[in-house]
Amino acid sequence: MTALQTSGDGHGDVAAAPRRWPLLEQPPLLAPYVFVVVALHAALIGVAATHATWCPQAPVLFGALLACGAISIEASRRLGMPAGVARDLLSAWWLPGALLMQPVYALLMPIPLQILLQLRVRRTMLHRRVIVTSAHGLAGAAASATFHAVVPHPLRDPASWLTDLDTRLPMVVICAVLFTVVNTAIVVVAAQIANTERSWRDLLWNREILLLDLVEICVGILITISCALTPVLLVIALPPVMMLQRSLMHTQLRAAARLDSKTGLLNAATWQLEAGTEISRAVRTDESLALLLIDIDHFKRVNDAYGHLTGDQVLAGVAGTLVQQLREYDVVGRFGGEEFAVLLPNADMLEACRVAERLRSRVGRMCVPADDATITVTISIGVALFRTHGHDLIELLASADLALYRAKESGRNRICLPATKKPGEARRITARPSPRRL
Ligand code: GH3
Ligand code: MG
Ligand code: MG
Repeated sequence: MTALQTSGDGHGDVAAAPRRWPLLEQPPLLAPYVFVVVALHAALIGVAATHATWCPQAPVLFGALLACGAISIEASRRLGMPAGVARDLLSAWWLPGALLMQPVYALLMPIPLQILLQLRVRRTMLHRRVIVTSAHGLAGAAASATFHAVVPHPLRDPASWLTDLDTRLPMVVICAVLFTVVNTAIVVVAAQIANTERSWRDLLWNREILLLDLVEICVGILITISCALTPVLLVIALPPVMMLQRSLMHTQLRAAARLDSKTGLLNAATWQLEAGTEISRAVRTDESLALLLIDIDHFKRVNDAYGHLTGDQVLAGVAGTLVQQLREYDVVGRFGGEEFAVLLPNADMLEACRVAERLRSRVGRMCVPADDATITVTISIGVALFRTHGHDLIELLASADLALYRAKESGRNRICLPATKKPGEARRITARPSPRRL
């Protein structure tokens, strides 16, 4: 049985597709979506520029906010910013730009700063950078237009910010929330189109993300009001914002270092630590525990036929399906290239096989769109039970590895237990490449 099956146009299993622009290797809806968002951004710049009225303070403030953004970016550069670190607190500078100046500035402001991020901090795929830029621009324009409808000339009389704070503060808060909602909506729709396996709930409802949104909104509001009183306060706001940015990024870097960036699962080292803790607990409490080693069948063919980027999407899709099917306290990690390890606390053999079968069948039904076809993959699973097949993590892994080897040998897309040794089998097992070490 071939692990890589295609439906649609019957693309061959192993024919190598010519390499193309990364966006075109993404699900087909993504390119039109990016195009529509960017076209809307560009069109609004034109419209907003023709309707803008001259305000002498605006260009100065625009330059000052851009300078603050650029200094923040340069400061974060030294920390490094790996994939997965999403929050940089730059909205502290977008928000005053959006609320205090006309929409055209809000639409323009993300462009130079995102170019700087792309060139100086981290090169990400161009379409991602472009959609993030347009999302910030459009969110800023929405917030700006709303705020200016109630406060037409926010920079004209700074003292009115103190006398009229009762009206202006709620408006600033409403527009800051609007900015966040529009920005999040545009980016989350793109993320969902790029990976349909990810649930809306996962993308939107995450305590950490909500907390970061709140921090960004609060800092943005404080700087907006300071800036409205006098732009000189920007000089005082910059150091604490940079310090906060550093600590936020440090927290995110630490969290990211535990995870595998392609799948969001635990990386091998963290998985080992957490699995070790679970095994110690099982020893203490005398509870059962099982290990599943999962390997995608013929994954190399996916890469050969559709390219590594699509291969990565399949990896992320499989990881997402595994997580959906597992309990909160199961320990799931990416173990190697296309291999995953799952530790099931409190599971006996029957339960472990039931879970393994559920994972096998759900992954087999998962579809990842590519070109004008749909990719499906199958997985093989080796199951090992604590105490029956091993008394520590290394023994358990070695047993699950042998079971996985049996699953591959006997045709793939199946679940196997470690073989009960028969005479003469020891030699065959030693022919298996030595069990992996973490
Ligand atoms: P089998 O059924 O025997 O497991 O066959 P297989 O093709 O899945 O296994 P093999 O070990 O021959 O190939 C694994 C492939 O996984 C080769 C490698 O290029 C690919 N791979 C490993 N890590 C990644 C990754 O992060 N992204 C992508 N796209 N491919 C990866
Ligand atoms: Mg493998
Ligand atoms: Mg494989």
